[in-house]
Amino acid sequence: MSSEKKGPRSTIFDIDKEKNFPDWYGEICKVAELADIRYGVKGFTPFPPWSLMSMNNMFNILEEVLQRKDHLPMLFPTVIPESNLTKEAKHVEGFVPQVFWIQDIGDGEKLEERLALRPTSETAIYPMYSLWIRSWRDLPLKRYQRCSVFRSEVKSTRPFLRGREFLWIESHNVYATHDEVKAQVMEDLETTKEVITEDFGIPVMVFRRTQWDKFPGGLNTYAADTLMPDGKVIQLPSTHDLGDNFARAFDVKYLNENNETVYAWQTCYGPAVSRIFGAMIAVHGDNKGLRLPFKIAPYQIVVIPIFRGDTADAVLEYCENIQKTLRKAGFRVHIDMRDGTPGWKYNYWEMKGVPVRVEVGPRDLKGNKAVLFRRDTMERETIDIKDLKKEVSALGKDIDKNLRAAAEARFEGLIVDADSYGTIEDTLDKGKIARTPFCTTEMEGLSCADEIKDRTGGEVRGTRIDVEEKPDGVCVSCGKVATEIVYIARSY
Ligand SMILES: [Zn+2]
Repeated sequence: MSSEKKGPRSTIFDIDKEKNFPDWYGEICKVAELADIRYGVKGFTPFPPWSLMSMNNMFNILEEVLQRKDHLPMLFPTVIPESNLTKEAKHVEGFVPQVFWIQDIGDGEKLEERLALRPTSETAIYPMYSLWIRSWRDLPLKRYQRCSVFRSEVKSTRPFLRGREFLWIESHNVYATHDEVKAQVMEDLETTKEVITEDFGIPVMVFRRTQWDKFPGGLNTYAADTLMPDGKVIQLPSTHDLGDNFARAFDVKYLNENNETVYAWQTCYGPAVSRIFGAMIAVHGDNKGLRLPFKIAPYQIVVIPIFRGDTADAVLEYCENIQKTLRKAGFRVHIDMRDGTPGWKYNYWEMKGVPVRVEVGPRDLKGNKAVLFRRDTMERETIDIKDLKKEVSALGKDIDKNLRAAAEARFEGLIVDADSYGTIEDTLDKGKIARTPFCTTEMEGLSCADEIKDRTGGEVRGTRIDVEEKPDGVCVSCGKVATEIVYIARSY
């Protein structure tokens, strides 16, 4: 290939991700211009184009799936009156400690009522649902909004993974029966697998959370966890069976077919896109930087012209034709026209995670060829320019498949049976998840979970809902006969 390859290539990024994950993560956020932590307010960060464009692509995929499943978009105000926020007792207890309040206007003029910056929007939306829903004909009501929410996390903050303002979608649905709610919960879990695993390439394990770890005010929470390179799990989307608790608190009633006024049943679903993006960075990245899925990358293809001698104009024209062809086929393409050696540009776009690179020099031009480079495996191949569209399309699909397979391979063999504090701790030390007999995930089990946490650093993540499991043995903490199998992991 080109002679530039033999010259020194300035290293833009080179950190061992597996050995040094926290440094790797912090540095890639900085170097790839994903988030700038110098904003000056803890937990709040500006998102430059590279991360925002990636997250917008993620939002679009999620919204397309939600709308296909009959959820329609809407947008509610950012502020929630205190009297709304405090209507559902358990919900208040769970969320109020994290709420940012607006107390006054201008030069200290007090508001009549404090306003909360939404930490989540049940208490904003449901009072309006109680006005909008009148009869059984109005149900089901399936809506979602794309917005940011604000929570004053006390733990240390990290871009995307734990921020005080994060971007998400929240879906809020109302039904006539509890059975429909349960079906919606299953549909949400399908959506999670469809989007998070198939489109974003992030494998997940789905749990029913314990009663002490569920959404405040709901009946049950189901959540997807994935594993980060440091062996800790992180929660990705969760979906909540709210029962009729919120309907009772917010008076969401309807007239049924027998003309009786009854309470409705509700679910909500919250894929936190900024957090999922953080997990995507961590799961797919390697020592050279980001590896973005083809479906997500802001630029799917970068074209690098290699100028030599008096062929510059011809090379550029060739590159522009490549861009035109690929754009016409619906791809996101960029030609890197900056000053700088091709080698430096290769490094730069490898660090930024662009899935496909097209390299074009005078020789390619002469032979009607181009060199395709794939970021996931760092492999090159020379193709005929007439096959460009077909080759890029196939390569894009293969890259996404390959990233997903690599992530899933790391997920395999992750679960280890453990029934003592020693074996649980060993498992967690190895960055794995312990599968353990447990007394109960009802509230009575909380003290056992606390003791496990104290002694091993692991959290009870809940019970599997995708596999039937029969417990055998006793609870490691209280010694009572186990009624459930739980999964224990260190977590974010
Ligand atoms: Zn126990």
